[in-house]
Amino acid sequence: APIILWFRRDLRLADHPALTAAAQGGRPVIPVFILDDETDALGAAPKWRLGQGLERFAAALENKGSRLILRRGKAQEVLRKLIRETGAGAVYWSRLYDPDSIARDSAVKKALEDDGIEARSFAGHLVFEPWTVETESGGHYKVFSPMWKSVRNREIDAPLPEPGRLNAPESWPGSDALEDWKLGAAMNRGAAVVQDHCRPGEAAAQERFDWFMEEAAERYASRRDMVAQDATSGLSEYLSLGEISARRCWAVAQRDGGKGAETFRKELAWREFAYQLMYHTPRILSGNWREEWDGFPWNEDERFREVQRWKHARTGVRLVDAGLREMYVTGRMHNRARMIVASYLTKHLMCHWKIGMEWFADCLIDWDPASNAMGWQWVAGSGPDAAPYFRVFNPETQAQKFDPDETYLKRWIAEGQVDPGAEALSYFDAVPRSWNLSPDDPYSEPVVGLKEGREAALAAYQQRRS
Ligand code: FAD
Repeated sequence: APIILWFRRDLRLADHPALTAAAQGGRPVIPVFILDDETDALGAAPKWRLGQGLERFAAALENKGSRLILRRGKAQEVLRKLIRETGAGAVYWSRLYDPDSIARDSAVKKALEDDGIEARSFAGHLVFEPWTVETESGGHYKVFSPMWKSVRNREIDAPLPEPGRLNAPESWPGSDALEDWKLGAAMNRGAAVVQDHCRPGEAAAQERFDWFMEEAAERYASRRDMVAQDATSGLSEYLSLGEISARRCWAVAQRDGGKGAETFRKELAWREFAYQLMYHTPRILSGNWREEWDGFPWNEDERFREVQRWKHARTGVRLVDAGLREMYVTGRMHNRARMIVASYLTKHLMCHWKIGMEWFADCLIDWDPASNAMGWQWVAGSGPDAAPYFRVFNPETQAQKFDPDETYLKRWIAEGQVDPGAEALSYFDAVPRSWNLSPDDPYSEPVVGLKEGREAALAAYQQRRS
């Protein structure tokens, strides 16, 4: 009987344990992707990006003599129906670690087993599954450095090669058409803008990774913070959808052994840390990880003028606006800029980190539930191993340090430039008309002065402590 391979955030062929296991036995494999409520609720940019990924992945499967069957509905019901249609005897998938996926997958597993269907889940999204990394006393790590130390030299299983041709079932079940799902519908910013900056799919991911290891890894440790340079791996969007395997990246970098490759592995370990935290303390996604932060006088009102100015990248603080514009146009933002825009929102503007986290979840093509939540809570000070609240990034000194010749600022801020570049102008093409923005407007005054915002944030923090 055929095996249904239920794909979710693992849109690749190489180093895919569930796929390898399914292909090995020689049974027909039926690859399926289900648009369920959870997937349907994705933010505009990640949902659009998912559509791009599915299109590439379906083509890659066709090259293997297979297909990607698309179905919409509640996973459990869709799978049951497919089993009836195809006579499949098993469903395999790669594990996810967020609370909603865990709840859904456990229910699916039980229902399938009750029906006498084999239900098997596999590793694949992480280098180390959350329960395999423990402190000496048995709990999970709440601080990054000792966690990194404990996994840094650990031996890992070798990555798996791509399977050969996949056996097709005698007849293929029907599939929805990807276009009918309209996964890009909420991208009212004109997806073409982001599209110009995005190369989806496993082949592009491999190419980017090869480029990074050959050309950039050596300088990664010294240049990764320079916001205007293409000096980082750029793999986050691929890792988010599983178009490349984290284990494979880890293994190649470990073999390389150079300083840059080691620093890269340390960053991958931050992703692992985020997943460990989400798995063990899922409240990190929705509330202060440090409960003593509950009641902090954050402004939670989305409609506040300051929040709108921040979202529209018109705070009047150039590095903050540049980062936010980069995200709106490309679907990505440099890590250093992410920290600075997040610090400005949570400290200078005293807005709740959740507002920022949700805006990122709508705008990022590399959106990842665990890394996004950890990143925001880290900057806000409410998270594990977080920057202390009194560490308020100063966007001006950060710009002098990490963008000394203002390349990044000029790339993204058109106002006031005699001859702004195409990227700076593309922001104004991308934003909805209702935002009423023009590159000819004078550049705004800061919505909150740097000194005044910093002092207000520190005063609120002091007051809570006393
Ligand atoms: P590289 O520097 O090449 O790093 C390699 C890989 O390591 C990345 O692809 C990523 O998977 C991982 N990594 C690097 N830094 C971090 C980090 N701080 N936390 C977790 N993993 C990391 N990353 C996301 O993938 N999705 C998000 O939604 C996301 N939201 C963030 C929100 C905030 C407020 C902050 C401060 C950071 C966020 N990050 C997020 C982490 C980080 O900014 C991005 O992973 C990184 O910028 C991606 O670029 P890169 O692939 O070139 O990274």
